Amino acid sequence: MASKFVPPDPSTLHPETLLVHGGTTRSPYGETSEALYLTQGFVYDNAEACEARFKGEDPGFVYSRYGNPTTAMFEERMALLDGAEAARATASGMAAVNASLLCQLKAGDHVVAARALFGSCRWILEDFLPRYGVETTLVNGTDLDAWKAAARPNTKIFFLESPTNPTLEIIDVKAVADIAHAQGALLIVDNVFATPLLQKPFELGADVVVYSATKHIDGQGRCLGGVVLSSQQFVTDHLQTFLRQTGPSISPFNAWVLLKGLETLGLRVERAQSSAATLADALAAEPKVEKVLYPFRADHPQAALARRQMTGGGTLVTFVVGGGKEGAFRFANALKVIRISNNLGDSKSLLTHPATTTHQRFTPEARAEMGISDGLVRLSVGLEHPDDLVSDIVQALKAV
Ligand SMILES: *Cc1c(COP(=O)(O)O)cnc(C)c1O
Repeated sequence: MASKFVPPDPSTLHPETLLVHGGTTRSPYGETSEALYLTQGFVYDNAEACEARFKGEDPGFVYSRYGNPTTAMFEERMALLDGAEAARATASGMAAVNASLLCQLKAGDHVVAARALFGSCRWILEDFLPRYGVETTLVNGTDLDAWKAAARPNTKIFFLESPTNPTLEIIDVKAVADIAHAQGALLIVDNVFATPLLQKPFELGADVVVYSATKHIDGQGRCLGGVVLSSQQFVTDHLQTFLRQTGPSISPFNAWVLLKGLETLGLRVERAQSSAATLADALAAEPKVEKVLYPFRADHPQAALARRQMTGGGTLVTFVVGGGKEGAFRFANALKVIRISNNLGDSKSLLTHPATTTHQRFTPEARAEMGISDGLVRLSVGLEHPDDLVSDIVQALKAV
C-alpha cells in the first residue's frame, strides 16, 4: 500500500517542515525522495474497477490531464504551505492566472484589477477578456476609494498582486478583500513576489491565490509551472472542470522538479532576502542611485503596511540609476556577476530594465503613471555572497 505523510497538525508545523514533508505519498517501495510518475494514464485490474474509477466511487487517477500522483504531491504541499483547502497545478504561472479567471467568468461579468500587474496578466484582463464580453476596470491599487468606486453590481472578481512588479508597491490585501466581499466579489491574489513564505493572502481575506512556480518555487531557472489555491468548493464548482476540459496541465516531471524546489525554498528565500536588504541599503548610499524601493526600508512609501502584511521585505530591489535609459544601460552592461534577464526568483541575481523589456509595449505616459522611469531597474537577488553582489554594483555604477 502507498503511505502518506500525515502532518501531526499542519497548523502547528512550521513551513520549513511542510516544505520538506508536506504532501509526500510513498509508493510500496518506501522511497525517500518523492517518486516521479511519468505516465499519461493508468491501468485497471478489471473492467469493473475501471468503471468504479470513472464513476468516482474508487478514488484514484484516470488520466494525467486530470491528475497525476507526482503532481498531486506538489499540489498538496502547496495547499499545506498556504493554508488552502485545495490546490491545482498548471503548466505555467499564466495558465494558473488564466484558469483562475476564466473558470468562473462569463459574458456580462466585470473585473476590477490593480493597474500594476505582471504584463501578461494585463493582456488577459485588457485584451482577451473584453473579446468575450467581460469588462475590466484598472485602478491604482493603493487607492482604496478607487477600488470601491470601480465596483459594479456585476463585478465578480477583484485581482491584484502585491508587492507589484516592478515598482514594489504594496497593496492593502485585507482592505481590498473587505471591499470585494462587500460587493459579493472574490479576491484573487497573485502572490509571486512575496512567495508563499512572506505573505499569507488567505489570512488577509483572499479567496484564491495564484503563483508562477517558475519563480522562487523552482528558483533554479529550470522549468515553468503554476498553482491555483482556493477552497474545495471553488475547485468543485469552477476550477476542476475548466482544467480537466481545457488541459493547461503541468508535466509530472515539472511538478517533481518543483516539489524538490520547495524543499529548499525556505533557505533560498531567507538568503536572497537578507542579501536584498543589504543591497538596498548599499544602493541607497550610492550618489548615482536616485531612488531605492525596498518594502522593508523605512523610506518605502508603504513601509508600515508592508510590515503589517508581510513577514519579510522579499528578494527584489528596484532602483533608479541616474542618467535615464543611457545610465541604466551603462550600469547593466558593466555588471560582471549579476546577469541581464527578464526573469526573477532565480538562484542567480538577475537585472531587468522594465522600460525596454517587460513594460516596453506601454506608452511613456502609461509607464510614468506606473512609476516606471527610463532609469528604473529591477534586481532579483540570488544566492551569491552578498559582498560579491555589492562589489559588482559599486564597480558597475562607476560606468554611469
Ligand atoms: C512570472 C509571473 C507570472 C507568470 O508566470 P509564468 O510562469 O511565466 O507563466 C505571473 N505573475 C507574476 C507576478 C509573475 O512574476
